Amino acid sequence: SGSSSKEIREKFLDFFAKEHLHSRVPSSSVVPYGDPSLAFVNAGMNQFKPIFLGQAAPQHQRAVNSQKCIRVGGKHNDLDDVGRDGYHHTFFEMLGSWSFNDYFKKEACSMAWQLLTQVYRIPPQKLFITYFGGNQSLGLPSDEECREIWLSLGVAADHILPFGMKDNFWEMGLVGPCGPCSEIHVNKANLETSLARTLVNQGTEEVVEIWNLVFMQYNRISNQVLEKLPAHHIDTGMGLERLVAFLQNKNSNYDTDLFLPLIDAVHQISGGVPYQGSYDMQSAQGQRDWAYRLLADHSRMITVALADGAFPDNNHRLRRVMRQAMVTSRKWFNQDASLLLELSQRVADMMGGVYPELSRNLSNVHMLLRFEEDIFRDHLAKSGREWSAIVNQFPELSALPTDQQPGLIAGLRQLEDWRRSSGSDKISGSLAFKLYSTHGLQEDSLQLLVQLKGWNVDWPQFHQLMADERMSTKIQSSAAVSSQFQCATSLKVAPTVWQCQDVCSRNAEGHYT
Ligand code: ATP
Ligand code: MG
Ligand code: MG
Ligand code: MG
Repeated sequence: SGSSSKEIREKFLDFFAKEHLHSRVPSSSVVPYGDPSLAFVNAGMNQFKPIFLGQAAPQHQRAVNSQKCIRVGGKHNDLDDVGRDGYHHTFFEMLGSWSFNDYFKKEACSMAWQLLTQVYRIPPQKLFITYFGGNQSLGLPSDEECREIWLSLGVAADHILPFGMKDNFWEMGLVGPCGPCSEIHVNKANLETSLARTLVNQGTEEVVEIWNLVFMQYNRISNQVLEKLPAHHIDTGMGLERLVAFLQNKNSNYDTDLFLPLIDAVHQISGGVPYQGSYDMQSAQGQRDWAYRLLADHSRMITVALADGAFPDNNHRLRRVMRQAMVTSRKWFNQDASLLLELSQRVADMMGGVYPELSRNLSNVHMLLRFEEDIFRDHLAKSGREWSAIVNQFPELSALPTDQQPGLIAGLRQLEDWRRSSGSDKISGSLAFKLYSTHGLQEDSLQLLVQLKGWNVDWPQFHQLMADERMSTKIQSSAAVSSQFQCATSLKVAPTVWQCQDVCSRNAEGHYT
């Protein structure tokens, strides 16, 4: 079908809202207020977590939305895949549907099948279904009920496959709501069934996962402990970009109307060699095309995160994505931050209809982009000569992201001082943590540095300090969170940030009033 992404998104929302009586709810902010377990909202269900855990009553029995999601850290981290494959983004839209203690598996599978095969008219033989095959050490049985349901809906037996914890037991993070799931994969390359079924969940572009139906039944308390939830719920999430690529008959998500206008804008503005869709990282064209994809991806993420109030100074992941975008636009397209300003304008133009906050907060986005570019330029100017000397000695370090340079320079100096005074090859966790908190030196960069020097680090102590810091950051910002909760309570709505943002405004300290 030649449908636009806009039509495809609307069809999903309409199907659940009109034909199956789900209430349409807005996307929450990507900044997860009041949840210390998350860096960014990574799935549509995040805003409903209190409902699943039995801590809040649902406002609706059924809900549907399109949620802004970011996966650059924690359990779900796709940052390193971006641009290297055609279907993992830092930011993506998740089309979601929910039943809160209302209908369960059978109806959920049946609705999904109806939408895909009748509304989107996908031929059933192009779809593959996975279900949870059980886990002995956790005492979890295979979900045979799920398999039977799909058979009863008419899915061919050789299109239904069991998988284990990694693929078919969905978890929000290290702790939190979770449950067995059933997923739908599409055979994009029209391969024979016998071959296509072997490629499900193998990380290839030919057969790609599009939709996850989670049967919420547990709360993960710790590594070995799952607690049963007070009630059962349905939580589904489908990646809009992947669905659109499939329905528009494109190999890659970047070839759809969600990304091509951004790629075109980079080309128009920079006037260089046009995008050719190559993924061959050994060739110059492939590397340039990767740079195009990276900018298209990162400009969406940066615009959304900044518009939702994430700040690069206390969010190292966001700063890293911003710096990677700045380095890429300079290196491959010879452009300064004005390119990113222009791209964020296009992102707001393209998505502002669905997420009005993008247009509303665009001036903040631009201000922060300019600000970050100034700091970054300063850093690079100061580090110039010292950095070349270090790279001469350890060329491996030049492969690390540029944003790590200031931390590596300071780190090398401080580590040498420390070793001289302590006489030990083992770096204390607190020094490692200090380098992280004052210079943004990431664990993987430090690891490489000490390896090259033949030293090591007290990692357990480092990790403990990291965990402590995460909790205390949340406590410091809890004043803002509690004023938001208060505001939400006075409005008699669930404490999700979007309801607050629409009726309240923030004062200078970031508190809602
Ligand atoms: P994958 O196995 O491809 O990494 P996932 O199993 O991690 O995906 P889920 O957590 O099940 O993904 O999320 C539900 C849906 O969201 C996926 O089926 C997919 O369509 C979409 N999705 C997940 N991660 C991304 C991403 N980084 N970029 C775009 N879409 C994504
Ligand atoms: Mg994943
Ligand atoms: Mg998966
Ligand atoms: Mg999945």
